[in-house]
Amino acid sequence: MTTAFFHDERTLWHLPGGFYATMLPVGRWVQPMAGPGIAETPDSKRRIKSLLDVSGLGAHLDQHTAQPASEEDLLRVHTRDYLQRFQAGSAAQGGDMGDLAVYGPGSYEIAQLSTGLAVAAVESVLTGRHANAFALSRPPGHHASRDRGAGFCLFNNIAVAIEVMKARHGLGRVAVIDWDVHHGNGTQSIFYSRPDVLTISLHQENCYPPGYSGADDRGEGEGLGFNMNIPLQPGGGHAAYLYAFERLVIPAIDRFAPELIIVASGLDANALDPLARMQLYPDSYREMTRLAMQLAARHANGRLVAVHEGGYSEVCVPFCALAIIEELCGQRSAAVDPLSDFIKLQQPGARFDALQRELIDDMAALHGL
Ligand code: ZN
Repeated sequence: MTTAFFHDERTLWHLPGGFYATMLPVGRWVQPMAGPGIAETPDSKRRIKSLLDVSGLGAHLDQHTAQPASEEDLLRVHTRDYLQRFQAGSAAQGGDMGDLAVYGPGSYEIAQLSTGLAVAAVESVLTGRHANAFALSRPPGHHASRDRGAGFCLFNNIAVAIEVMKARHGLGRVAVIDWDVHHGNGTQSIFYSRPDVLTISLHQENCYPPGYSGADDRGEGEGLGFNMNIPLQPGGGHAAYLYAFERLVIPAIDRFAPELIIVASGLDANALDPLARMQLYPDSYREMTRLAMQLAARHANGRLVAVHEGGYSEVCVPFCALAIIEELCGQRSAAVDPLSDFIKLQQPGARFDALQRELIDDMAALHGL
């Protein structure tokens, strides 16, 4: 069985729209930028596909596009009113579906396709067609709640994929590991009272949503204990993430024993990212993928799907994705990662790491781990 790579050129034609400099509305003291102003551009995504092609790794993958997610399937997560407002705006000149969930003409259909890539990737792995899969979804999804977009996210791609698999295939327990540097607030809100979906978010503390930490938010009702937030200190790097896996992610998933693991694979904890302050490098993502694969092998017959989320450094993101996909398919490409050695020199010192470990130990105690 092979690794599948789901992508579609049309997702790179999504135009976030509006007038922004990185994430700031232009005007008054904020000078407009030449070229695309907003941080969420097609480039970091297109360069993932390009690097797969030129490195030769793409030849080892089973590459597919997918059908757009149907309205019926989107309604499993989102409200009809939300769909109608988005569809109307997309048929006109675009707009904003919430908090910086900006979109342009035609974005509705592209967002359907982005969700469709995630659905197809999860379905192909769940039904045993592929060993594991990577979906290059765009626009991203993890900040989108049922009735509100946020942070470039319009449909919650992973949440829709989970609900479709439950409806079509009777899928039971699913774990979502969200290693996007921003909090997976949309996914958390959708599954907050559900015991069948374990949502874990590793994120830079107080980054996005602004001021949000989330360490104490563990779910509610039947879902109490099935939501885990791991806020990490800005400046933290490889050691912080690996320790968070060791003390929190791995034991939580061992306790939950999911039938499928989905990674909300934002790559914006890389050290060059303009929208966060963490210090990961491509080999960090390789290592986290290896650990996620071990968890999937232990509990889920190997079933692991990575769905792309954020990641805004055009230089670093492609090498992070390459490392993940190399690990998924068990092949090393010819490409030499030019960044890991450089970023490894910039990791925080031992006293910082000790403080971060202490904070993680406190979180583990909170979760009874
Ligand atoms: Zn992000």
